[in-house]
Amino acid sequence: LLGADGRLAPTIFAEMTALATATGALNLGQGFPDEDGPRAVLDAAKHAIDHGRNQYGPGRGAQELIDAVIEHQRRFYGIGLGRGDVLVTAGATEALAATMLAYLGPGDEVIVFEPYYDAYAAIAALVGAVLVPVPLHAPDFQPDPERLARAASPRTRMILVNSPHNPTGTMFGEEALREIVRVAERRDAIIVTDEVYEHLVYDDQHVPIASFDAARERLVSISSAGKTFSVTGWKIGWIMSTPERIAQIGAVKQYLTFVNGAPFQPAVAVGLRLPDEHFDTIVASFARKRDILTRGLRKAGFAVHDANAGYFVLADAAPLGFDDATALARRLPELAGVVGVPLSALARPSRRDLRSTLRFAFCKSDDMLHEASARLAGLR
Ligand code: PMP
Ligand code: GLN
Repeated sequence: LLGADGRLAPTIFAEMTALATATGALNLGQGFPDEDGPRAVLDAAKHAIDHGRNQYGPGRGAQELIDAVIEHQRRFYGIGLGRGDVLVTAGATEALAATMLAYLGPGDEVIVFEPYYDAYAAIAALVGAVLVPVPLHAPDFQPDPERLARAASPRTRMILVNSPHNPTGTMFGEEALREIVRVAERRDAIIVTDEVYEHLVYDDQHVPIASFDAARERLVSISSAGKTFSVTGWKIGWIMSTPERIAQIGAVKQYLTFVNGAPFQPAVAVGLRLPDEHFDTIVASFARKRDILTRGLRKAGFAVHDANAGYFVLADAAPLGFDDATALARRLPELAGVVGVPLSALARPSRRDLRSTLRFAFCKSDDMLHEASARLAGLR
């Protein structure tokens, strides 16, 4: 995370997108779709801009979005929330930052599953908290209960869970989720779940930790609109928890952004209320994209892990003779005209087993995925 001068360096995603822009390579690095989301959602934002939704809104978020989040939780998961249980944020990123700022102080330990989304480590570092990674290993990337128990200590204040998981594309099984709840209970820790990929699940069903009664009292659930509606630049997220926690986290949010995204909030409410066909269509479309890229990467000679969810596939370049994916990522535009993210950017340097693996995003047009596959086939 830190540059040579000891300051926070640009994220790997910014670095790789800059590399793609500079070289004209196909950007399968940063996870953002290159096709627009549902027309009704885009039109709703335009309508809101044209109808006066351009000033500061309510601190907790637009009422129609709060209500839409409540309806969505009931409709998809049978979970009952009240209006005091929801806080709208500037994406999942602000939700994570505000939650970690609200509950973590210097020296407090936060358990994460490794590899992990880079913001977890960065926010923990900014707060002065200690990141305690529990390694996930190929091929299934499920947490090992013993490793998890050993990672916990009297200083464990938070367990941060990301399922569906970026970057591995796996989902934690129900038994793993229950074990996380048990460990959190034993250590009296808060569970924070990042569920931004909740609707991008291809061969399975998403199970939110909130559906376990035992978790509810110590749970902060986070999601966002970027992935579900292909509007990553809108940065509308939300937190679901008890009214007490929402008040505590909301108090922090006031001083981060105060409020955010006024015209986008009612538009996301429209999205969350779209009929089931929308959600089925995005699953079918992203599953097809995953299949195109997975096949292409395998044909090109990578060892590819099956992704069950999310935006990404992991591809090990060792069979092609590359054992350092960080070096390969820098040369990939020149070698193949493609950009990917080295997995070691999302883990500690000690994770030698991840060293030769790249993360490729498949949230791109079918044409781009076919073209990238053809180009990568030239690596052999
Ligand atoms: N969590 C994970 C796991 C992510 O992949 C991302 C990236 N989109 C985020 C959080 C950030 O989400 P947002 O853009 O809503 O801040
Ligand atoms: N979440 C996206 C990814 O993992 C991009 C986020 C970012 O650029 N910070 O690639």
